[in-house]
Amino acid sequence: MLPAAFDYRAPATVADALSLLKQHGDDAKVLAGGQSLIPLLKLRFAQPALVVDIGRLPGMATIARDGGHVRIGALVRHVDVERSHELAKLVPMMVEASNWISDPLVRNRGTVVGSICHADPSGDWGSVMLALDAEVVAQSGSGQRVIGIADFFKGPFTTTLRSDEIVTGVRIPLASGPAGGSYHKLERKVGDFASVAVAVQIELDGRKIKKAGIGMTSVGPTNLKATAAERALVGKELKDDVIAEAARLAAADAQPKDDVRGSAAYKKDIVRVFVQRGLKAALAQAQGVKA
Ligand SMILES: Cc1cc2nc3c(=O)[nH]c(=O)nc-3n(C[C@H](O)[C@H](O)[C@H](O)COP(=O)(O)OP(=O)(O)OC[C@H]3O[C@@H](n4cnc5c(N)ncnc54)[C@H](O)[C@@H]3O)c2cc1C
Repeated sequence: MLPAAFDYRAPATVADALSLLKQHGDDAKVLAGGQSLIPLLKLRFAQPALVVDIGRLPGMATIARDGGHVRIGALVRHVDVERSHELAKLVPMMVEASNWISDPLVRNRGTVVGSICHADPSGDWGSVMLALDAEVVAQSGSGQRVIGIADFFKGPFTTTLRSDEIVTGVRIPLASGPAGGSYHKLERKVGDFASVAVAVQIELDGRKIKKAGIGMTSVGPTNLKATAAERALVGKELKDDVIAEAARLAAADAQPKDDVRGSAAYKKDIVRVFVQRGLKAALAQAQGVKA
């Protein structure tokens, strides 16, 4: 199917892009890698009067360390994460997760930030960002605002971003002590969206967990944060009973539905298993043990 007619602008500055968004409000749509928006336009699920292509905006394709954070610019593509030596050292879970996204065609075009803004509950980056406690940096004509990722997802394909805002990047807090993470994904075939996936990130203080993050994919109306499981882990040593209890709590918080990918009960059990595996892999990484 062909998209409905729309105007197309590719501004060269953030100020121009923001001014177009302010002028056109809900009639405008931002275009980044186009891997989600273009299919929506072709299916006519989205029919904006104006598409604002941000692909030429300067300074947004970088991955940069910024004090206690690493900043992923709005035009950083999945493939950039996959190939980033810096992220392999600082946040290896991101590199692992990038390999799970579709195929090289999609990874070469799609952006991390575009994926988060698309807010597909089956998107992989949302869960990764929830596990990492990322912050979304949004810019509008009236200034910048920083939104905690847990407050960003509002519902399926819906965020708390305003129509006059562009996300300029996400900020990921860096651990001060030994840390590790993992992303486990079950898919029906290579390159598919997740039937279930789980992102786990932990930071250690000695043998105990100082901070834990768990994000869940395809088991709710948005990517979900397993907050009860996270809380249950803090201050504990990662012994089998602690791992089993966190996995049980995460599965209890998952809200999957029966569908062609499996029953709700099956998906909850996959969450349980993936949290266990994820915690063990994260611990091995934090302790510098080869898995
Ligand atoms: C065949 C196929 C398979 C896929 N498989 C997977 C998969 O396995 N896992 C997975 O996670 N994803 C998958 N995807 C989705 C893919 O990851 C997309 O790249 C991603 O969802 C969107 O990124 P984009 O840069 O292409 O955004 P676009 O398609 O350009 O935009 C997506 C949405 O975000 C908004 N947006 C984009 N950037 C900004 C910004 N900076 N500020 C404000 N709003 C913005 C747009 O207005 C639009 O609403 C798949 C896509 C395809 C086509």
